[in-house]
Amino acid sequence: MKYALVTGGSRGIGRAICTRLAEMGYYVLINYNSSPAEAENTLKLVKEKGSDGELLQFDVSSQEEVERSISYWQMKNEGKVIQVLVNNAGIRKDALVMWMKNEEWHDVLRTNLDGFFYTTRFLIKDMLISKFGRIINVVSLSGLKGLPGQANYSAAKAGVIGSTKALAQEVAKKNVTVNAVAPGFIKSDMTKDLDEAQLKSMIPMNRFGKPEEVASVVAFLASEEASYITGAVINVNGGLYT
Ligand code: NAP
Repeated sequence: MKYALVTGGSRGIGRAICTRLAEMGYYVLINYNSSPAEAENTLKLVKEKGSDGELLQFDVSSQEEVERSISYWQMKNEGKVIQVLVNNAGIRKDALVMWMKNEEWHDVLRTNLDGFFYTTRFLIKDMLISKFGRIINVVSLSGLKGLPGQANYSAAKAGVIGSTKALAQEVAKKNVTVNAVAPGFIKSDMTKDLDEAQLKSMIPMNRFGKPEEVASVVAFLASEEASYITGAVINVNGGLYT
């Protein structure tokens, strides 16, 4: 069995990633924070693909929860190595900088940026020892381009992009790759308050993307075939760059 951990696997893009990794034969550790029923639905989909998995509840923004939950799993599963880590958990709390509250800034940085750091730091050692690993970070168009009303989210995702490039160089010799996938507008709970009919005119493909279209790229980066790609940011945005 090969083991993969997907943060924020309970819904949206994370759920589609769990399902694709299950198709590739991974045993999927499905992290969730506040949606246990949704996480159970993801596990059901993983099983329908003929694989297996389990739920891991923790808040990625809490170092203590991340380390307690993963180390408990490791204790029960001695000798098993999580080879693929997908840092997907994320939130947005949009506001213009002028009106942005401290907690809107800090909550978004903590979940999107600190969360990436806590899970990655905790799992990287085993990947280095076993001389194989795939870390895939779900970032955003917002972190590359900057989007008005998202100074917090753009900062967090740009931070993850910078860390992706730095870490990729730290661990490349050990056959551990670190890449980012940058979606544009994707249909999920995160974008359900957005007006697709109005926004799609900005997108060359004239539509929002599907979670599965992001998951396919994550699956490729997780595969053996992507062995010479590291430090990359791959856009999945229907042609929306500027
Ligand atoms: P979503 O449907 O809102 O799902 C968010 C997921 O993140 C849920 O599974 C949620 O789990 C989890 N999560 C949130 N806070 C967490 C925490 N503190 N600890 C652990 N898990 C947490 O969003 P999505 O659209 O699938 O987004 C997935 C990723 O893609 C995010 O990083 C997002 O920034 C990025 N992205 C999305 C879009 C888009 O258009 N949708 C575009 C660019 C980038 P619970 O429900 O269990 O709390």
